[in-house]
Amino acid sequence: MSKGLPKMEDDYSSWYNELVKKADLAENSAVRGCMIVKPYGFSIWEKMQSAIDKMFKETGHTNAYFPLFIPKSFLSKEADHVEGFAKECAVVTHYRLKNDENGQGVVVDPEARLEEELIVRPTSETVIWSTYKNWIQSYRDLPLLINQWANVVRWEMRTRLFLRTTEFLWQEGHTAHATEQEAIEEASKMLEVYTDFAENFMAVPVIKGVKTESERFAGAVDTYCIEALMQDGKALQAGTSHFLGQNFAKAFDVKFSNKDGALDYVWGTSWGVTTRLMGALIMVHSDNNGLVLPPKLAPDQVVIVPIFKNDDQLKALSEKAGQIMEKLRDRGITVKLDDRTTHKPGWKFAEYELKGVPLRIALGPRDLENNTVELARRDTLTKEVVPMDGIDEHIQNLLEDIQNNLFEKARTYRDQHITRVETYQDFKDTLEEKGGFILAHWDGTAETEQKIKEETKATIRCIPLDGEMESGKCIISGKPSKQRVYFAKAY
Ligand code: AMP
Repeated sequence: MSKGLPKMEDDYSSWYNELVKKADLAENSAVRGCMIVKPYGFSIWEKMQSAIDKMFKETGHTNAYFPLFIPKSFLSKEADHVEGFAKECAVVTHYRLKNDENGQGVVVDPEARLEEELIVRPTSETVIWSTYKNWIQSYRDLPLLINQWANVVRWEMRTRLFLRTTEFLWQEGHTAHATEQEAIEEASKMLEVYTDFAENFMAVPVIKGVKTESERFAGAVDTYCIEALMQDGKALQAGTSHFLGQNFAKAFDVKFSNKDGALDYVWGTSWGVTTRLMGALIMVHSDNNGLVLPPKLAPDQVVIVPIFKNDDQLKALSEKAGQIMEKLRDRGITVKLDDRTTHKPGWKFAEYELKGVPLRIALGPRDLENNTVELARRDTLTKEVVPMDGIDEHIQNLLEDIQNNLFEKARTYRDQHITRVETYQDFKDTLEEKGGFILAHWDGTAETEQKIKEETKATIRCIPLDGEMESGKCIISGKPSKQRVYFAKAY
């Protein structure tokens, strides 16, 4: 129930945490940083998965599955990669427990030490490239376009449900190509797929860009990303696509003979989105009454709540609801009837508001007499009484309207929170007073980037891909800059 949800303007972070729990999306588990995704949360994630999986298939990719455990030696083969991930690896050292000598519980059996320790995958480049070595011999074996849906573990110190967890669910694409150009095109193409998904399914506007060297994926030549803005003015990296160059091919000796018969290393990409997208979905659209879901990702797009005093009324209303549901389902709309007698209509209204169901139909005896229904929109919290005739078409249009409205609302907010600044003082003031993205000139050095991060906690989110080229002076060093970059405080 929405009662008891903190207001987002008072305490955004408690609002988020409470909303995730109260809307039955996820909860903390016995292991710090690991989450339990509850059925309602998981059904939203499943909708995301199926939409994005379809997009991967349409762009020529197929799914496969690689092991959870990675031999420690594999991880060290690519120097940058191991350095980047070493600090957050979970390591398996033993394979057996035995009874404690005092008869109190169990202890690790020291005799069951693994010859080679295993890493619980933080990402699968190493295990996949060690396999690609056997799969790729000639240009005829390329391109190899594979994705896997899996869980990964990164031992995070500061965690938050969905946004940053120690174990998270994701997809990771790993592709191999004959040419550099083709691999770069693949990495860009997948960034477009993520953008399309974020904007047209999640209704979340994103900025496309490339990461600076310090924020680049460990082992990549270039990391492309999409960045979204949350309603508290903080940014969230929503997805990444990496051009790996020949780094992993060299580390795992993956060569192919080209059309001229000469041997060359293979070019690679990898790309991923995670359960973090659930966090973005929640933070971009929800309000003080609870979750607001875009129709394309709502497990139930429409819910019908009958309002009745006795069994006869319920029977008549259920019959009418059945007719409505049939028509809606014919149009591919997901709808459910909540005919429970254990809860009052008012309770159900609040519950579906909290759960973000896009459209609610209230159906009472008077509606049967008048051949009408009452429709309530979750996004605008407005109600209207509409005729039963043509209800299916009306609802289909409304769902599209809600989807578009959510995107436009989020885009307006985002655009109002992009500020161009010319001086460091302006930068700091904007960050303090308004938050959001700041477009400023940067001299391209890691030192300047680091100084700004230390002094303001803002980081360079990305160098925009479709940003205008406009020369200027770095807000810190005054040195020349060819293009503004996006700064923000981020999750
Ligand atoms: P990477 O493999 O580091 O490029 O990460 C792939 C995606 O996972 C990026 O979009 C990150 O924003 C996201 N991500 C990274 N760490 C976590 C985490 N601890 N929990 C959830 N998502 C994460």
